[in-house]
Amino acid sequence: MSKLNLSKSLYVKGLQCPKALWLAKYQPELRTPPDSNRLALFQEGHEVGHWAQKLFPGGRHIDLEADTIPHRLKLTQDAIAAGEETLYEATFQYNSILVMVDILHCGPRGWELIEVKGSTGEKPVFHHDLALQAYVLQGAGLTIKNYFLAHLNPNYVRQDKLELHKLFTLVNLTTRVAELQHDILANIEIFRSVLKEADTPNIKIGPQCTQPYDCDFIHFCWKDVPTPSVFSLSGLQLDEKFNLYHRGITHLRDIPETLLRTDRQRKQLQSEKSNTQFLDRDGIQAFLKTLHYPLYFLDFEAFQLPIPLYKDTKPYQQVAFQYSVHLQSGPGAPIEHRCFLAMPGEDPRPQLAENLVKDIPTNACILTYNANYEKSVLKQLAYIFPKHADHLNQLHHQVLDLMPPFQAQHIYTRAMNGSFSIKSILPALVPELNYQHLHIQDGQGAARAYAKISQLTSDTERNSLKDHLLEYCKMDTLAMVKLVEYLNSIV
Ligand code: SF4
Repeated sequence: MSKLNLSKSLYVKGLQCPKALWLAKYQPELRTPPDSNRLALFQEGHEVGHWAQKLFPGGRHIDLEADTIPHRLKLTQDAIAAGEETLYEATFQYNSILVMVDILHCGPRGWELIEVKGSTGEKPVFHHDLALQAYVLQGAGLTIKNYFLAHLNPNYVRQDKLELHKLFTLVNLTTRVAELQHDILANIEIFRSVLKEADTPNIKIGPQCTQPYDCDFIHFCWKDVPTPSVFSLSGLQLDEKFNLYHRGITHLRDIPETLLRTDRQRKQLQSEKSNTQFLDRDGIQAFLKTLHYPLYFLDFEAFQLPIPLYKDTKPYQQVAFQYSVHLQSGPGAPIEHRCFLAMPGEDPRPQLAENLVKDIPTNACILTYNANYEKSVLKQLAYIFPKHADHLNQLHHQVLDLMPPFQAQHIYTRAMNGSFSIKSILPALVPELNYQHLHIQDGQGAARAYAKISQLTSDTERNSLKDHLLEYCKMDTLAMVKLVEYLNSIV
């Protein structure tokens, strides 16, 4: 195969960054292997594609019937010639550009092409994606009447059954695809001249590294960025950070003070340079005065899926399956712990709501970290379980947020590196407690572990994963307990 051959994914890479295109073609070994979060995204993408195919049922799976590209190309042509009406992953090549079409359907108006995306809206890159497919299919001799983007409808609320015509929004992009045709040839020429270069294109890191997608080569291209760098400075626009970086101001401590605009930035820089710790006792005291007993520390774990699994959920809605609560009934009283983990494989919310109203009384002061998330979960539960609505709404009103004193830098140390996430704050202030030894390290890992439990057949493995989940969620609330103890100890 010629080195100047292109595919849809290479074309899209070229649009994002010609260097990414060149590296993908000639040095793919420099890619960062996808982590488990990225692999989960791929899997979700496949699932969305699978459901979208049901909008046009009964089609032939070209990809499943043939292994090689030449075979898929031939099978596609044969299927069209034989009068097949719906093809999945139909494969076409023109001008040495290969594309596979998510869904190709011949209806009363003629052939229509449907590109499926797991997003909840349109993005410019999708238009280019479709425009390239149009270029190749037209060149390959197939007349397409309409080009559609099928994306998830963010406002769709599932009832008992999935209603695919409501779940997916079909956007007719035929006019836009035609408008973009003149760009396609120009881009193909540019990309082929890039691929003729003997050396890696000399392109500096920039906003394109994460837009519209996280580039596969970030680890390679960003290897010389120091820690902490100008990119750690809080409250500065990304393009301004790149401006500084490309002017040679790469390390955080190199930023001239004259460029700083906010107190937050000044504190961060001074702390970096001289390891200064900032403490605003009045601010912390004012926060601590808002707390009362009984004090409950609450954290939910939730999963978000593109295709809503349960009644009354939307695409990507957070569905809570677990919580941890540490509580203290009064000053000096012992800390107690309560938790709930739903049985995998069934809607976790009814049991979770039942347990939650038993575990947290309506007079509790509920402390969370980044309260919007916990509040939204409580609100959803109140909405779908009317018998607990009063109790859950009361809990919702009682929620306080532990994040603001750290966000306001009432206490700030160099180790926080401009961040106020609990994962940065905890090791900076309570180093003896950390997440490093835990099997599950973050919320996405917890959601994946929960999904995995129902796939396991061994009780030992299931129980082990459940223990890991309980341990992780417990750590989130224990971290809050320790942070409040810390704040009390310094005022
Ligand atoms: S990391 Fe950035 S500069 Fe490097 S190839 Fe990717 S987009 Fe281009």
